[in-house]
Order: sequence, then C-alpha cells, then structure tokens
Amino acid sequence: MKKLALLSMILLCAMTVVAGERWTEIVSYRLDMRLDSAGRLLNVQALIRLAKDDSTKTVRLNFADIIPIHKVTCNGDTIGYRRSQDGLLFQLPAFRKGELRFNYTLETDSFKSDRVIALVRARKWFPYLYDNVASSKINLTVPAGYYAYSSGKQSGYEFDGTNRQYHFRVKVNAGMPLFIAPVDYYTSQTQQWKGRQLNYFFHTTDTTKANAVVRESLQAFRFAYKFIGKYRPPTFTFIEFPGFDFCQSMPGFVLMGPEYIADVNKPDKRYWVGHETFHQWVGNGYFTRLYNHSPYTRFTEESLTEYLRMVYLQKSFGDDTLKAMLRENCRIYNTYIKGTEEDLPIAANRPNWVTYTLGPVIWHVVRGEMGDKKWQKFIQKLYSKYYGKVIDYAVFREQLVKFASEETVIKMEKCLNEKGIPAEFAE
Ligand SMILES: [Zn+2]
Repeated sequence: MKKLALLSMILLCAMTVVAGERWTEIVSYRLDMRLDSAGRLLNVQALIRLAKDDSTKTVRLNFADIIPIHKVTCNGDTIGYRRSQDGLLFQLPAFRKGELRFNYTLETDSFKSDRVIALVRARKWFPYLYDNVASSKINLTVPAGYYAYSSGKQSGYEFDGTNRQYHFRVKVNAGMPLFIAPVDYYTSQTQQWKGRQLNYFFHTTDTTKANAVVRESLQAFRFAYKFIGKYRPPTFTFIEFPGFDFCQSMPGFVLMGPEYIADVNKPDKRYWVGHETFHQWVGNGYFTRLYNHSPYTRFTEESLTEYLRMVYLQKSFGDDTLKAMLRENCRIYNTYIKGTEEDLPIAANRPNWVTYTLGPVIWHVVRGEMGDKKWQKFIQKLYSKYYGKVIDYAVFREQLVKFASEETVIKMEKCLNEKGIPAEFAE
C-alpha cells in the first residue's frame, strides 16, 4: 500500500504546479499512430477536439518536453506554442469548437520498460489536461513482431503479414494506456462474465500466481458489479508493467507491478487485486477531482476503495473477517504509526499510511451510523449518477447527506481532522 501511496504522491505533486490555469475542456481524442519497422520511432497524428473556449487565457496542456513536435494547428491554421518543462502553452483563437492537431514523434527507447513500450498518462506521451475525461479513438499500425494493448473496445484488427493494424475505442478515457510489446512478451488469459470480457496479460511464467490474480480479480469484479453497479466498459484489462513497483487502475485498465504479482499469494499482499478492481468503480467509474482538491480527497477515494474491499470480504466470509481486518488496521496504527511522522490526520491528505489503515475504520463508523442499506445506496448513487464525470468533495458530500445525517457527516469530518483511532471504534 505504501507503494500505491508513493505513486499518488508523485502525481499529486505534479498537479500543484499547474494549479489555476485550467480553462478549457478536451472532448475527444483521435490518435493515428505508426511504429516504424525498427520499432524505434512512433509517429503520432493527434486530433484533439476542444470545447469551452476562453481565448483570453493561455491554455496549458501536459506533454513531455522530450517529445519533438513537428506541427500544431488549430482549426486548420498553424499556431505557435511555448514549452515550459512538461507544459505546452498556447494562446488559442476564439472558437466555439476547436480542432487542435498535433504531429509528433516518440523515440520509443525513452518510453520502454524492459522490452515493452509502455505509454501511460504519467509519461505524458499525449497532450492532456488534469481532471479531464474524454472519449478516444486510437488507430495504430505496428510491425508484425509486435502486439498492442489498450483499454476499451478493440473495434478492429487487420494483419497483412507485414503490419498489424489496431483500432481501439474508449468512451470514458483519462489514462490513455497503450502498451506495445514483442509478440513473445506476454501470455494471455481471458474470462467472460455478464457480457464483459476480462483480459489478463502476464510476463511472469509463474502460472500459480497468474491464476491467483485472475481468480481474485474476477471475484472482486463480480462483487462490485452486483454491489455497486453494472460495469460499463466492454472489457477490463490487467497487464503486467515491467520494472514498476506499483499497481494502478485507469478506466478499463490495471497496471500490475511484477513484485505485486510475485507476492499475490502472501496473505497480507493479496489486497491489491481487489483494491485496484474496486477502483474501476471508485476513481475510474466516477472520478475524484485531484486539481485544487479538498483535504478529504484521499479519504473519499483511497480509504473508500480500501473499505469497499473489506466489505467485499465481509460479504464473502462473514462479519468476523471484517472485524479482524479493522482490528488489524488499528494494531498496525498503534504499533507502527502512532507517534511517528506518519501519524497525521487523514485531512493532511498526504499519501500516508493512515489513509489506508484508519481511513477504512472511519468509513466503518460512518457505515454503522448510516446502516448497511443506506450506505450501499449511497455508493450505488455516486456511481450511477456521476459515471464518466469528475466530482469534487462538495458533490460527494451533497450525495452523502442524502443518505447519512448531517451530524454523522460532521463527525466524520471531525475525525478526518484529528489524529488517531476514532473514539467510536476505540472499544
Ligand atoms: Zn488505491
């Protein structure tokens, strides 16, 4: 969990840099891409549709400064831009609908992990805004020696003996994952459930561990589907991300660090499979606003996801299982966190250990006061009402008080601003 937390810290730090410059909205992406025969250069033609123009302000897109740009146009006219580290700054003309076109080339060696060209948002391989959810179409051509992997629907695939052409369509995209790997790199497994396809791509040859990931994730997936709501994307893909020591969910796609797969059968390490699976609903079904976020952001996203995992185990194995997990979290807090520099109120909103240990305990107190049915209805409502949207704490709270009393919510907020185990649970 600390590793999950560490990644988030890096992402959160990156976000504060660009605060206050948000002005427009990206509605959709179309990326036409081709990998050269040597597998070294990936040419990208990007069409980005924009809405909500405000021509008085500078727009800043995130985009890696190591990527050379050949041309940028807006509604057909070449436009100038300025680069500032990983920011791409424009002054755009006034428009109602904007079509921004980029042509650029990625040197794939800069984006490789082991032999995999791993393109994910954190690597800033496409121009984007934080807290922006858009639809996407990716048309990709790779030489015969490669396969491609992405989220959403694979709407087409052609192979002419020399090149493979892929067509990926995603309605709700925020992470834009795209992996290109040599054909011998991954072995795959597929599961079907309620018309949804779960795809797994492992580099590890340890089938016992791979099977454990498949089994655990499918169980968690079924639970969330019934308990929270129907899974919307047509596919859900798990993929091993070589050389990375974290796991991360993005819409329809979970990145798995090799160490996590290696540890999946250890009783205290299997948590991540369920946790990342539930993030498909919380954080990637509806999205939590991270930009100018509230002090409770990590509680509403990370602690809630972790508590959902516990509720799933409670429903599968009984109340004693949940009680034992909450007790264990309190023991971890008392033994390893209390009095250390990690001992902060959850509202400090740092990616600290407290978010994952005491956060679920606070959610348990809240759920106890609301009652099981109302708590479930609240979670269901958030997902059904805000699927594909980014919500802030004000919206989250507004929904919560429809199912919980104002008194409960105020008490919850008080807990989040104090250190330690909540008094209600101390006994
Ligand atoms: Zn998480």
